[in-house]
Amino acid sequence: MEKIKMTTPLVEMDGDEMTRILWSMIKDELLLPFVDLKTEYYDLGLEHRNETDDQVTADSANATKKYGVAVKCATITPNAARMDEYHLKEMWKSPNGTIRAMLDGTVFRAPIIVKGIEPCVKNWQKPITIARHAYGDVYKAAEMKIPGAGRVELVYTAADGSEIRELVHDFTGAGVVQGQHNLEQSIESFARSCFTYALDVKQDLWFATKDTISKKYDHTFKDIFQEIFDAEYKEAFENAGITYFYTLIDDAVARVMKSEGGYIWACKNYDGDVMSDMVSSAFGSLAMMTSVLVSPQGYYEYEAAHGTVQRHYYKHLAGEETSTNSVATIFAWTGALRKRGELDQNQALFAFADKLEQACIQTIENGSMTKDLALITSIENPTVLNSQDFIRAIRKTLEGML
Ligand code: NAP
Ligand code: MG
Repeated sequence: MEKIKMTTPLVEMDGDEMTRILWSMIKDELLLPFVDLKTEYYDLGLEHRNETDDQVTADSANATKKYGVAVKCATITPNAARMDEYHLKEMWKSPNGTIRAMLDGTVFRAPIIVKGIEPCVKNWQKPITIARHAYGDVYKAAEMKIPGAGRVELVYTAADGSEIRELVHDFTGAGVVQGQHNLEQSIESFARSCFTYALDVKQDLWFATKDTISKKYDHTFKDIFQEIFDAEYKEAFENAGITYFYTLIDDAVARVMKSEGGYIWACKNYDGDVMSDMVSSAFGSLAMMTSVLVSPQGYYEYEAAHGTVQRHYYKHLAGEETSTNSVATIFAWTGALRKRGELDQNQALFAFADKLEQACIQTIENGSMTKDLALITSIENPTVLNSQDFIRAIRKTLEGML
């Protein structure tokens, strides 16, 4: 078989630990034999980030702006323990945070649905994608413990020195207080990323806040979404046959539980934090979850939702067998290849991405899987494979399909 040609390179961001091991296995077994793979390679492994004073992370984000599509391996976010382990010059920031800030993007997470790994919620037939706003609110709040009786006010001082004051509370005893903020520009980017992504995958978009109670803060989110939708996306949504739907957050939660899935649920920062854990655990496993960062300009960065699977890596280093699930990392590649195929009108590349995803799903549905899935599957007597053999089994299924 002749290898599929690529015209534009993908930005390839390599990473750390067990996922770095899986990364090269995936390339060797599932990509290089079939695709004349073109990538611009950036090594975001912690050692190389340290050597380059983290310049490589910024370079990889800039390359994503240049080419439009990137695929990223999971990376270590350094903490005190990693400082010693890797002899770091500095506690480098989370690469995901750096890239997200540079691309001004929103992260969309969706479960990979497989027969035999059923969601706890019986009626969820299709994936529910969570889009979490990643700026502000409680994550950038100022907080204070109020020791006793006294007045708390919000004070805005304009550049000209004029003030606006708002009473928070006249305390008669001890208590707590919190000041949150967000930026119109960030909310606008969030809205555009959500509308862009909904059009891309042709799914309805839901958005919910508590605007009836939070008449200024949450209402601003609601208004910005509606204004941008009406001005820039309404027609495209109609043409695509999809809808934008706004409701209250509590109504949204009730509807989500009763729904059959198949839509994108845009969430404010805290709601997204909480709801994405609920949705992903109800669907089965972080290893069966795709994740893509979409910028309002339409740059895409695909990755797995899980981390570097450190515990498995230490087993691997000790020469023990591992059974690490590579599906989410494979889907990061297929997501990026499909998007590249779409942008370059490369039908063969597009079709290959679909086939490779089907091969993963079929392999599991035929009863061959890694240990994490074997523990939760309803398939009887599954065959538990090690990390490498699972990838080889997918290759066999794929070759059968091609
Ligand atoms: P993790 O890598 O997500 O793994 C936590 C546990 O979840 C694993 O020990 C394993 O459970 C299970 N698991 C996760 N992915 C799996 C897979 N593909 N196959 C099978 N089991 C899987 O989280 P962590 O170990 O807490 O974090 C390790 C490093 O990842 C940290 O340095 C963190 O900074 C980084 N991280 C990176 C990203 C990212 O780059 N996007 C995201 C999160 C964390 P068992 O041990 O029970 O088998
Ligand atoms: Mg969380």
